Amino acid sequence: MEPVPSERDPDALECGMKRIVLLAVGFAVVAANAAAQGPVDWKAVEAETLRHFQALVRLDTTNPPGNETRAVEYLKQVLDKEGIPYQVFSGDASRANLVVRIKGNGTKRPILVMGHTDEVSIDPKKWIDHGPFSADVAGGFVYGRGTVDDKDNLVASLMLVLMLKRANTPLDRDVIFLAESGEEGSPEVGAQYMIDQHFDAIDAEYCLAEGGGPGRLAGQYTRASISTTEKEPRAVEIIAHGPAGHGSVPRQSNVVAHLTKSIAKIVDWTPQLRINETTGSYFRKLAATAPSDQAKRYRDVLSPDPKVSKPAADWMLENEPEHWSMLHTSLVPTILTAGYRYNVIPSEAKATLDVRLHPDEDQSMFLDQIRAVINDPTVEVRWARDRYRPAGASRLNTELFTAIEAETKKHYGVDVLPTMSTGASDKAQIRSKGVQCYGIGPALDYEDGARGYGAHSDQERILESELHKFVRFQYDLVMDVSRPK
Ligand SMILES: [Zn+2]
Repeated sequence: MEPVPSERDPDALECGMKRIVLLAVGFAVVAANAAAQGPVDWKAVEAETLRHFQALVRLDTTNPPGNETRAVEYLKQVLDKEGIPYQVFSGDASRANLVVRIKGNGTKRPILVMGHTDEVSIDPKKWIDHGPFSADVAGGFVYGRGTVDDKDNLVASLMLVLMLKRANTPLDRDVIFLAESGEEGSPEVGAQYMIDQHFDAIDAEYCLAEGGGPGRLAGQYTRASISTTEKEPRAVEIIAHGPAGHGSVPRQSNVVAHLTKSIAKIVDWTPQLRINETTGSYFRKLAATAPSDQAKRYRDVLSPDPKVSKPAADWMLENEPEHWSMLHTSLVPTILTAGYRYNVIPSEAKATLDVRLHPDEDQSMFLDQIRAVINDPTVEVRWARDRYRPAGASRLNTELFTAIEAETKKHYGVDVLPTMSTGASDKAQIRSKGVQCYGIGPALDYEDGARGYGAHSDQERILESELHKFVRFQYDLVMDVSRPK
């Protein structure tokens, strides 16, 4: 998925850390005892997890072009050896999706666990110490493209279905594993294709996918961000139209001038501050643990009185822009196209804005609002493309979300912050069908992103120990909501 800095931002996290660390120690002992009595041989699971993980990372499934069928072929031979049936769905033979269903007794509706098989492109020259498809293990890390996005969730979901099948685990609901293609910018072959053409195969009450997880600061768990909703990406184009002419004569109709004035108005405009269930809970929980001046700002943005909320939001725009973005639709100019000769006034000048709509934004009125702000009849405002990541939110009062909170406490000793991702993911597609989706993943070091080791970076890596911990976390989580009681 696209990086979500707010989830990995260490600002404001140092508060209360000692208390959290002490809790973590206590819970670790409980978890270790439970594991010793359990039926799963976790040492063997770890060895097998690493083997499958390295094999998957060594497959080049960079998108474009994807070639995700390489990963599907690998999964198929693993499943064939176990006698686990699967279905393969593809609109494009090189970009297949794979579905495994472990049957339950049908008391509850299914749970879907997802991992995407594609990964973002690489610049091979930049991968100096460890190759992008090396899956090298060094200093406790596994290196390679996809190690934190998203072959970690992929292998955890594979291990889940292998464990359930081998133990013939009684289940109150079907557990469905979807290995999906095309998450990195081409959902039309993956998540969108699956919901349009084969939704029956993945229809579920709940889904778990990438987009969250615990953060570590100086090696200690601090909090877990669990994505429960996300902003909707929908670029906007602003186009100034006017007569072409000679550059030696100034004209008030100059499209370059009209466009730049329009952009200046847009960047000075603040769309309405909006709070929803997720962000309300997020800022309340942050306020509960933050130092007092910061806590006041997190409380202030929740105030219905703009005189209170606006100064706090303005502070965030300058100091914590990810938080500002969670509170507003954002409009960020990213591309300008105008002119081709210095002495020719062009007849058209265009700006493209990366717009991330708040899920509660009224899209039918939004362009009219921009037009009113620009207030220039020579300037056209239009969507750059149709909706492709439909906005939606998952509830916080579900059995699964409650289980995520409990398992996070048990495994990591920290609290969950329900988070609105500013970036987009395939959960948007699945949520559009009414499935309650939550973003989970292995713990990441906050420091790693800034040092260039994060998702989409040239030294992408994961702590091996955290990959194994996540496999156990997801297994326990799914069992929590699926075990017959
Ligand atoms: Zn991803």
